[in-house]
Amino acid sequence: MAIQLETRKLANFINGEWVEVSESTGVTNPATGEEIVQVPLSNTSDVEKAVQVAKEAQKEWALVPAPQRAEVLYRVGYLLKERKERLSQLLTQENGKVIEEARGEVQEGIDMAFYIAGEGRRLFGQTTPAELKNKFAMSQRAPVGVVGIITPWNFPIAIATWKSFPAIIAGNAVVWKPATETPIMAYELAKIFEVAGLPKGVINVVFGSGSTVGDAFVHHTDIRVISFTGSNDTGRNIAAACGKQLKKVSLEMGGKNAVIVMDDADLELAVEAILWSAFGTSGQRCTACSRVIVHEAVKETLEERLLAAMEYLTIGNGLNESIKVGPIINKAGIDKIKSYIEIGKNEGAKLLAGGYELTEGEYRQGNYFAPTLFTDATADMRIAQEEIFGPVVSLIPVKSFEEAIEVNNGVEYGLSSSIFTNDVNRVFKAQRDLDTGIVYVNAGTTGAEIHLPFGGTKGTGNGHRDSGVQALDVFTEWKAVYVDYSGTLQRAQIDV
Ligand code: NAP
Repeated sequence: MAIQLETRKLANFINGEWVEVSESTGVTNPATGEEIVQVPLSNTSDVEKAVQVAKEAQKEWALVPAPQRAEVLYRVGYLLKERKERLSQLLTQENGKVIEEARGEVQEGIDMAFYIAGEGRRLFGQTTPAELKNKFAMSQRAPVGVVGIITPWNFPIAIATWKSFPAIIAGNAVVWKPATETPIMAYELAKIFEVAGLPKGVINVVFGSGSTVGDAFVHHTDIRVISFTGSNDTGRNIAAACGKQLKKVSLEMGGKNAVIVMDDADLELAVEAILWSAFGTSGQRCTACSRVIVHEAVKETLEERLLAAMEYLTIGNGLNESIKVGPIINKAGIDKIKSYIEIGKNEGAKLLAGGYELTEGEYRQGNYFAPTLFTDATADMRIAQEEIFGPVVSLIPVKSFEEAIEVNNGVEYGLSSSIFTNDVNRVFKAQRDLDTGIVYVNAGTTGAEIHLPFGGTKGTGNGHRDSGVQALDVFTEWKAVYVDYSGTLQRAQIDV
């Protein structure tokens, strides 16, 4: 029997209190179609309360020495560790990803807590000589104030930790709007902050729709930064609204990630990596491999081996340890994938496997789609250009290394890429020339570690990064401080 949530209705977490909201909507388990919990649909006055509370709490929190702030995050890390199995099982139920991957996602949160808590004793600025005598100069990070975090359903706990933990260690207060599809991780993380002793109001969770709660965050004048992960359409609108207000905004959005398989690649390893990257989380990862750019010399062999390996992909409820591919988040996701299958066929790509929804027997109540392989796609086809967000991968044959790099870079996104080759010269050229924020060599397109910056180039984002020490740049302002101890007026540039 899987671990169940003890409540049937969630509440907002504002000022350390659980605040009920009259309106709510049901959240269903995508594997079974059963309702698991009711999530609040908050309104703009709930947002207003949360922001005002955060504004007050932030003033005190910013004065707590950062090593003491870190103590709270260390406790959060230990609590996440203690509750890892509970969180993983609940995550599988709300999101559908298979239990092994759910455990991996929770582990990312644990890693992030311990890593970024260490920043409590660093948060380095610089000291530097001043150009005048008896004068001291330094730069330091200052918190920005109240930060608004908006997260998607596909990594409901990991992404929240990449954003909220750096914001908190830097002395900010947070208002967080989780995706309505996956509120349970937010509820569980809020409980952990409560037990860890984070002062009231430093983190506030406001559940509700993007168009009401998310939009209110974006337009609230007391929210100084928006950190958003989600789709490109939503991200562009948020960026435009923030631009008008001169509000800082960090965007992490879509991807059209490729594995390049060269003629000298270890094909067995490449097949394993493609399966993991393309069909893990049912292809609903921003870093999912949805293109395989394959050298024509090994194309046929790769196709055969991929088809053979795909036979072993078990599909079903991710709570069952033997399942490799779980459900799709909802029916709209299924419809989008189906539409791309038709697009691919009409464009002339050859469907080698899958291409259909699973609707019979054990699959009847959930949202399941068969892992799908197209071949003979060309770089300009829509299935090779647009984010499908499902278990669909297209093989694009190329004639050379140079063409492979060009095809890889010829999309609007720039999140992750990978190359399989045993030629050291190609390895170094590829890591230089692949225009993505993340590059893997002889590994798939997924598998980021939290102490490195996460994010992408071009249409994937706007230059900021989640996780890593770089996440601090989103949640801090640089302040330059000059102390003149000469007792005279010394004019920079003039009295030198
Ligand atoms: P989404 O529809 O853009 O939603 C993301 C979040 O934004 C949700 O919390 C959503 O709320 C909220 N939202 C929707 N409309 C809004 C508005 N007008 N103002 C403010 N907030 C609004 O994206 P998704 O379908 O959940 O996520 C999938 C996308 O995320 C994919 O494109 C994927 O590639 C991308 N992603 C990127 C990364 C990365 O780091 N690059 C990581 C993971 C996912 P509600 O849904 O509750 O209404």
